Amino acid sequence: MAKKTTATTTRKAKKSATKKTAKSKTKLSAKATVKTKKKTSATSTKKKAAAAKKKTTMSRRDKLIHQIKQDLLSQRDSLLKEAEETLSTLPGDINFPDMGDQATAETDRNFILRLRDRERMLLKKIEETILRIDNKDYGICEECENEIGIKRLEARPVTALCIDCKTREEEDERIAEGG
Ligand SMILES: [Zn+2]
Repeated sequence: MAKKTTATTTRKAKKSATKKTAKSKTKLSAKATVKTKKKTSATSTKKKAAAAKKKTTMSRRDKLIHQIKQDLLSQRDSLLKEAEETLSTLPGDINFPDMGDQATAETDRNFILRLRDRERMLLKKIEETILRIDNKDYGICEECENEIGIKRLEARPVTALCIDCKTREEEDERIAEGG
C-alpha cells in the first residue's frame, strides 16, 4: 500500500521545474523605441519663420502688386467688351455707288482698325503683365534685372523696364529716328 503515495509526489516536483525559464525576456525592447521621435520639425519651422519675415518686409510692395493685378483684370475686361462692340459696329466692305462715300467709309474703317490695333497691343501687354505677376517676376526690369521702383509701378503698371532703362531706350529711339 505504501508504494502508491511516493509515486505521486515525484511527479509534482518535475512539473514546477519547467515553468520558471520563460519569463524575464520581454522587458528589454520597450526603451529603444522612445528615442527615435521628434527630430524632424526643427528645420521646417526655421524656413517658415524666414518666409514670414520676408512677407512682412515686402508687404507694401505686395499689396501694390495685388492692387495692380485687380486693376489690370478689370481693365482687360472692359477692353474686351469694347473690342466686341467695335467689332459689331465695324463697317464691312460695302460697295457704294458713289466713289466719295466709299472713300470715307474706308478711312473710317482704317481708323477703327488702327484703334483696335492699339487696344490689342495694350491687351497683350496687360495679359503679359498679369502672367508675370502670377509667376512672381513682376516688378523686375527685363533689361538690367533690378527691382522697378514702386512709384514707377504705380504710374505705369504695365511696364517691364525700370526708369533708367526706359529713359535709355527712349533716347536710343530718338537717335534712331534722327531727332
Ligand atoms: Zn533696368
